Amino acid sequence: STFAGLGLDPLITAHLNTKMNILKPTSIQRAALPALLTPSDPSSSRDAFIQSQTGSGKTLSYLLPIIQDLLPLSSQSYIDRSIGTLAVIIAPTRELAKQIYDVLEHLLKLRLRPHDETPEDADVDAEDGTASGRLTRWLVPGLLTGGATRTHEKARLRKGVPILVSTPGRLLDHLQNTSSFNVGKCRWLVLDEADRLMELGFADTVKGILAGLDGRRKLAMQAVREGHSIEVGGWDWDVRRRTVLCSATMRDDVQVLAGTTLREPIMIKA
Ligand code: AMP
Repeated sequence: STFAGLGLDPLITAHLNTKMNILKPTSIQRAALPALLTPSDPSSSRDAFIQSQTGSGKTLSYLLPIIQDLLPLSSQSYIDRSIGTLAVIIAPTRELAKQIYDVLEHLLKLRLRPHDETPEDADVDAEDGTASGRLTRWLVPGLLTGGATRTHEKARLRKGVPILVSTPGRLLDHLQNTSSFNVGKCRWLVLDEADRLMELGFADTVKGILAGLDGRRKLAMQAVREGHSIEVGGWDWDVRRRTVLCSATMRDDVQVLAGTTLREPIMIKA
């Protein structure tokens, strides 16, 4: 089987093949992609529990569906620099967060555009909702692990980071203390290595993050309702946030976490 055969956009597939030398999906990717790629009716999209070991290719099994989900948004008029964060990936350690970020950066070199283009030219090719031309220009990844100063991270968040990879503590910190962290429209939450998250004592932090994300979403919706925030082209608030949890094991503590974070998840195992 091939990535294209699993429903991956031909341009993303070509990028994987030619730029990353990733030719054939691994077994977890074969199981995960059809389940996670957003269906044409987004309201039927589901949460997922991915059970797999490190080294199985699990990172791409959630990153590819996220990118494919976000790409067409850039062709819609509500995408501008103030869109904020649309996907949040949480990893238990700085090292793992950095690894995920590096893969993401590689994937988003799918820019297929000349590098000397000015930002004002961004997205002009985006018309039909497929991954064509310069679509990933706005899809900038960010890494929040406390490696940089808080002031620096805040400045970065204020500018808007569409896809964010973070460790739990720093993310909760910004949710609680950075008012310009625009995450009210977040569509994806990934809890990677959830078993490690639990081992490292992050259960309450993750709970706080979920509460923070829900709170920000409510505030964002309210701002739109009350006219404080201009809604260009509209935003489908009915598309709920999807959560993906990855774990090597089905230990009790992981199942408890899954019970509080996932809604009727698809179980993916390979
Ligand atoms: P992961 O389990 O996500 O940490 O991935 C482990 C390694 O496998 C990484 O170095 C990936 O770049 C690589 N990888 C992931 N998917 C594939 C694939 N379909 N074909 C070849 N290598 C892959």
